[in-house]
Amino acid sequence: MSDASDALVVLDKVNKHFGELHVLNDIDLTVARGEVIVVIGPSGSGKSTLCRAINRLETIDDGTITIDGQPLPQEGKALAHLRADVGMVFQAFNLFAHKTILENVTLGPIKVKKEPRKQAEQEAMALLERVGVANQAHKYPAQLSGGQQQRVAIARSLAMKPKVMLFDEPTSALDPEMINEVLDVMVALAREGMTMIVVTHEMGFARKAANRVVFMADGLIQEEAEPEEFFTNPQSERAKDFLSKIL
Ligand code: ADP
Ligand code: MG
Repeated sequence: MSDASDALVVLDKVNKHFGELHVLNDIDLTVARGEVIVVIGPSGSGKSTLCRAINRLETIDDGTITIDGQPLPQEGKALAHLRADVGMVFQAFNLFAHKTILENVTLGPIKVKKEPRKQAEQEAMALLERVGVANQAHKYPAQLSGGQQQRVAIARSLAMKPKVMLFDEPTSALDPEMINEVLDVMVALAREGMTMIVVTHEMGFARKAANRVVFMADGLIQEEAEPEEFFTNPQSERAKDFLSKIL
């Protein structure tokens, strides 16, 4: 692990309730610059809430979340900037249906970052090239496969030049034959040094790309370990039980 000055995302005693439900329970998590974390755990354990809290789509009750030394702002302009620092790719593709692929990718840079259109389009085409869908740039999302749409969603997030990328089960809505084309893009991104927090049960991805696996259950981080160590030698009963169900 890198030293503390290298910390990019820091959660300190983060708590979140939904009514009676303690969905994030004293979560401490530090993600270093360039580190790739895979978060796994049973359905309902708080993984999506964790991502949404880091992206400030969800408020927290107490504790702090810091991105690159900046505490998460509550609202306003600072929040828009923070959002630009934190890219997020969801399970559902969430592209704008009535905009072309190219427009989907240039919208944020033009509207939020005030980039000139020409520059935004050049950068967008380079990103679409990188994720292997440049030849689809003038089509609409519905004309693309799920795997292609998800790769566009990744390009759209990258267009904002985020410091960290969050992925919440990015392949779980895809047909099996499309999963690898998305995971390959994510592995490449990890190898290029992007800081990533990835909720996924794709162990192949975790083994290839993750520095650390974080296992959540009941709103708690139950254990964390290097992927090989976690998958072959889980410590907690919860993790053993969970792995026996997905392996
Ligand atoms: P996971 O992503 O690990 O499946 P979630 O973070 O989506 O888990 O959800 C954790 C728990 O919080 C679940 O029991 C879920 O039903 C509950 N929950 C999530 N969002 C809300 C909400 N907006 N209001 C009430 N309960 C919620
Ligand atoms: Mg979830």
